[in-house]
Amino acid sequence: MTLTAVKGFNDILPDESRRWQHIEQTARRVFELNGFGEIRVPVMEKTELFCRSIGDATDIVEKEMYTFTDKGENSVTLRPEGTAGVMRAFIEHKLYAQDPVAKLYYMGPMFRYERPQKGRYRQFHQIGAEITGVHDPLADAQVLNMLATFFREIGLTEPTLQINSLGCPECRPAYRTALRSFLEERLGALCEDCKRRFATNPLRTLDCKVPGCIESTAGAPSVLEHLCKGCDDHFSTVKHYLDLSATPYSINARMVRGLDYYTRTTFEMVTGLLGSQSAVAAGGRYDGLISQLGGPAIPGIGFAMGLERVALLLGSQEFTTLPDLFIATMGSSERDVAFSLLDGLIKSGVRVEMDYEGKSLKSQMRRADKLKARYSVVIGENEVAAERATFKRMADGLQSDAALTVSGIQTLVMKSEQ
Ligand code: ATP
Ligand code: MG
Repeated sequence: MTLTAVKGFNDILPDESRRWQHIEQTARRVFELNGFGEIRVPVMEKTELFCRSIGDATDIVEKEMYTFTDKGENSVTLRPEGTAGVMRAFIEHKLYAQDPVAKLYYMGPMFRYERPQKGRYRQFHQIGAEITGVHDPLADAQVLNMLATFFREIGLTEPTLQINSLGCPECRPAYRTALRSFLEERLGALCEDCKRRFATNPLRTLDCKVPGCIESTAGAPSVLEHLCKGCDDHFSTVKHYLDLSATPYSINARMVRGLDYYTRTTFEMVTGLLGSQSAVAAGGRYDGLISQLGGPAIPGIGFAMGLERVALLLGSQEFTTLPDLFIATMGSSERDVAFSLLDGLIKSGVRVEMDYEGKSLKSQMRRADKLKARYSVVIGENEVAAERATFKRMADGLQSDAALTVSGIQTLVMKSEQ
């Protein structure tokens, strides 16, 4: 029996990974411009880290984690998200001692045991960024602008930014109570998950996709009307900065994130193009997380975007780079010259292909077509003797005579690129 990959774990083949590289390179460029540095943390952490940060009553911790006991009887978990591990590292290496303001980004695989479907996998990839140490709403606005800039640079007008505020430990309990008394009368109409979460995490009902829950929560009290003065001012200032930088957004008071550590600003980049996988990126402020994990009382804010979902939105756009030149040879005696040219040209930055197996000239030209080389050249005895050859521009058949040397070919290929 042939072996296949584990369900929900995907291979990323070269055409697709070129699209991924384009996304990763754009993110790196935009993030580095904003002063962020890359942090690489392990894909596995002690289970306790995620229980303490993400929260016990969340979908992730309740049912999505890849948790197992290793040979040393330790409970370990493949990371379901990036922030917890990054903050663990921030505290462990006392990065705050040099400077409480750290701007960090990461990219890599995350693991959640979910039902695989388009845009939802068990191993998926996130690109995320975090700013620590800034209470000021400027940090919220910079993170949001950075995210919006990334999507603009990558050439996507979808998704669009939605923002909300979830308040803080001072004002959220009152909101939770108000929401609970609203939901209490409608408890019978809620789904089993929401009935159960009524006690532990009633806010999640606002985010539930089950039609009965959507209906029952119409007219529910809004979190934005329950913010304390501090949270209300913070939210207004975030909006002010977004207006100032002409970043488009809309307010979605029903947006509740699925992780417990969020405070104040939360946001999502949403699209209607991926069915129920509507969130392409999401994040928020987490002012209590670092101290909750045993670090100093330093605030933070960040986001993560799903690489697979960004790639789906980019669709079939090609990111393949095509060969500049295909070298065909008349016979085996020209292969030394062809190989030396191939080697020299690649070393000078020209993308060249040649026939590897001494096939017929016809089949070599078929391969040049298939690879969509910009130019082709056929090298025979005469060309070797004259050290000149005729180069054919594949798109229109235009022929040019040039020296059969690295610099001669380089000049020809570069010239026609302009
Ligand atoms: P969803 O509501 O779609 O389950 P989420 O709220 O669980 O998303 P986050 O934990 O905020 O997602 O993760 C940030 C981003 O990571 C999401 O916006 C999405 O793009 C991506 N993501 C999350 N889970 C998956 C998954 N199982 N497969 C692919 N991408 C995912
Ligand atoms: Mg989820």
